[in-house]
Amino acid sequence: MAVTILAVVFLGILLLVAFFGFKILGKRTSAPAGQLMERCSICRGEFPKEMLVVRQVGDYKLVNFCRNCILSLYADLGSRN
Ligand SMILES: [Zn+2]
Repeated sequence: MAVTILAVVFLGILLLVAFFGFKILGKRTSAPAGQLMERCSICRGEFPKEMLVVRQVGDYKLVNFCRNCILSLYADLGSRN
């Protein structure tokens, strides 16, 4: 009997941890469910995949750039000419 109660309590704790874990994850990425998030390779910010420009570097590495970083690169280039 005691073992059954312990098992139920343990299961309850497990469910609570899973629930709050998902809640914290949901807060961290404020994107709607199903939207694929990627990190910008320069500022490390998270953005929806369709908002990033992806370029291949070398044979396999893919690099993502967000709008702000591209504009900042463009400004850097402009300040040299
Ligand atoms: Zn960026």
